[in-house]
Amino acid sequence: MSADLQTLATVSRLVPRPIRPDVAGSRDTLIGYLDAVRQGLLMIDASGAVIVASASARQLLSDLNVTPRENAPALPLLRALRGDTPQARRAVMTTLRHTLDRRQPGVFEVRCADHTVQAELHPVAGSNWVVTLEDVSSRKATEARADAMARLDPLTGLPNRLLLRERLAAALARLARTGEACALLLIDLDRFKPVNDTLGHPIGDALLEKVADRLRSTIRPTDTVARIGGDEFVILQAGIRDAAGTQALARRIVDLIGRTYMVEGHLLTIGASVGVALAPADGTDADRLLKNADLALYRAKLDGRGTYRFFEPEMDARMQARRKLELDMRQALARREFQLHYQPQLQLQSGTLIGCEALIRWRHPDRGLVSPLDFIPLAEEIGLIVPIGEWVIRQACRDAMTWPAHMSVAVNVSPAQFKSDRLVETIISALASSGLPARRLEVEITEGVLLQENEKTLQTLHRLRELGVRVSMDDFGTGYASLSYLRSFPFDKIKIDRSFVKDLATKPDGEAIIRAIAGLGKSLGMTTVAEGVETPEQMQRIRLEGCTDVQGYFISRPVPTEDLLPIFAAYPQV
Ligand code: C2E
Ligand code: CA
Ligand code: CA
Repeated sequence: MSADLQTLATVSRLVPRPIRPDVAGSRDTLIGYLDAVRQGLLMIDASGAVIVASASARQLLSDLNVTPRENAPALPLLRALRGDTPQARRAVMTTLRHTLDRRQPGVFEVRCADHTVQAELHPVAGSNWVVTLEDVSSRKATEARADAMARLDPLTGLPNRLLLRERLAAALARLARTGEACALLLIDLDRFKPVNDTLGHPIGDALLEKVADRLRSTIRPTDTVARIGGDEFVILQAGIRDAAGTQALARRIVDLIGRTYMVEGHLLTIGASVGVALAPADGTDADRLLKNADLALYRAKLDGRGTYRFFEPEMDARMQARRKLELDMRQALARREFQLHYQPQLQLQSGTLIGCEALIRWRHPDRGLVSPLDFIPLAEEIGLIVPIGEWVIRQACRDAMTWPAHMSVAVNVSPAQFKSDRLVETIISALASSGLPARRLEVEITEGVLLQENEKTLQTLHRLRELGVRVSMDDFGTGYASLSYLRSFPFDKIKIDRSFVKDLATKPDGEAIIRAIAGLGKSLGMTTVAEGVETPEQMQRIRLEGCTDVQGYFISRPVPTEDLLPIFAAYPQV
C-alpha cells in the first residue's frame, strides 16, 4: 500500500461508515466518504504535505481566505489559521510545535476572519497526520449569549449577583494594583412587599423596572448597578476619591427612589434604605465588603428606613451581641428562664380589681432581669415569639386559676403569633388544660396585628370572640389609623396609651384626647382603660374624663403571681 492509502486506511476509522477492503482501494470513493463528514478533514503525510482535503475543509479554509493546495506543505496552511491577535498566534504556534514534535494529539481554537475555528491534530500511522477542522462560530456565539444572559437579571436587564461579583473582583484587583478605592452601596426597598402583595406581581415587576431605570440614571458609566434579590439592589461605585461622592450618591438614591411612581394608573410610593461599605477602609475582599454593607443597611433600617448609613466597626459588635441574645433566647424556654408578672386593673366605678395583665420577664443567668422591650422585638423578628407566646398563654391561664373567680387575665399577642396558624388551637388547648373559662381570658393586640389586616386576621379574631375570649385594642392612639381599626372589629376594650396619661399634666391636649377616647368607647359600648397611671392627680383626671378602668404603678407595679393575693385583699371584693 502506498503511503497515501495507508493514511486513508487509518483515517477510515474516522469515517462514519465502515469501509470494505474492496472500496478502500479507491481513493475517490474514500474522499467521497470524507466529504460526507460535517467536520473538515485534512490528511498530511510524513513529509508534511497535504495529501487530502475534504470538501468541508476546503470550504472552511476558503471562508478564512486560505486555499489548501494538494501536496503543498501543511505547516504554512495551519499557520494561516493562526488567529487575529498576537496572543492567539503565539498560542497556536506553541500547540503546533508541541503537537508536531511529540506526535501527540493537539487541539487549538482560533478566531480568524470573524470565524472561530477548532482544529484537532491526530498523529496516525506512518508519521502521518489527520487534522479535523470545525467552524464553531455559531456555537460560540450562542454560548457567549447564554453566558451574558446568565449574568443579567431577566426582569430589569441589570447585572445580577454573578456579574456584580465579577465586577467587584475586578475593582478589588484594581485597588490592589493601583490603590483605586471603590464603594459598595446595598439598597433595600422599603414597603415594596405590600405593593406586590396587594396589587399583584405584574405591578410589582413594573415598579421594579422603574426603580432600575432610576438607579441606572443616577450612576456614572464606570459604576455598576445590579439587582441581587427581589427588592435588593447594589451599586458598585468605582474609582472614588473620598467618601463625599459616595455620600452624595447615597442621598440621591434615597431621594430618587422615594419619589412617587405611576404604574398602570396606581400612584405608588416606596422608599430605599442604603448601607454603604468603602474599600479599602471597610475591607478589601468581596465577602467582607458585602457583609459590612449589609450591617450598615441593617442599621439604616433600624433607624427608621428611608435613609443611608455608612459601615462603622461597632455595628459588627452590636450584631454579634444580637446573635448572642438570639442564641440565649432560643435556650431560655427550655431552661425555664421566662417568668410572668401581673399588673392589676381597677374598675373605677366599683372600686374593685377586675383582672391583671400578664407581662413577661426574662431572668437571664448573666444579665439579670431583661425587659420585654429588649427581647420581644427580636423574638418577633426571628419567629421565636410563637413558642414563647404559647408558653405565656398557657402559664397565664394556669396562674389565673389560682385567683378569685371574677378576675380575668390579659395576654399580649404579637402580629407574628397571628400569622402562625396555631393561635386559636393554642388558646383552646390552654383553656381546656387549665380549666379557665374563656370569658376570663383577654387577648391584647396592637395595630401591628391589624396592619397586616387580611381576612385571616379578622377570621382569627372572630373565632376567638366566638369562644368567649375578649379582645382589647392595646396602645390606642399611637399608631396611624387607630380609629379606622376600631371599625374593623368590635373590640371589648380600648387601652389608652400611657403617653397620653403622661402628657396630662404638661400638655392641655392630653386631656381632650383622653376625654374623646373615653366618649368614643362609651358610645361604642367598649371599656376604656387608661394605662400608666402613676399619681393621684392623674387618677383624679382620668376619673373626670370618663375612662372606665385604670392600670398603672399607682395601683400596683407588675408583680409575680405569688405577690398578688395581698394586693387583691386590699381592694373590696365583689
Ligand atoms: P404594654 O402591653 O403596653 O404593657 C404595659 C407596659 O407598661 C408594661 O411594660 C408595664 O410594666 C408598663 N407600665 C405599667 N404601668 C406603668 C406606669 O404606671 N408607668 C410606667 N412608666 N410604666 C407602666 P413592660 O412590662 O416593660 O412591657 C413592655 C411591653 O412589652 C408591653 O407593653 C408589651 O407590648 C410587651 N410585652 C410584655 N409582655 C409580653 C408578652 O407576654 N407577649 C408579647 N407579645 N409582648 C409582651
Ligand atoms: Ca398590653
Ligand atoms: Ca399598652
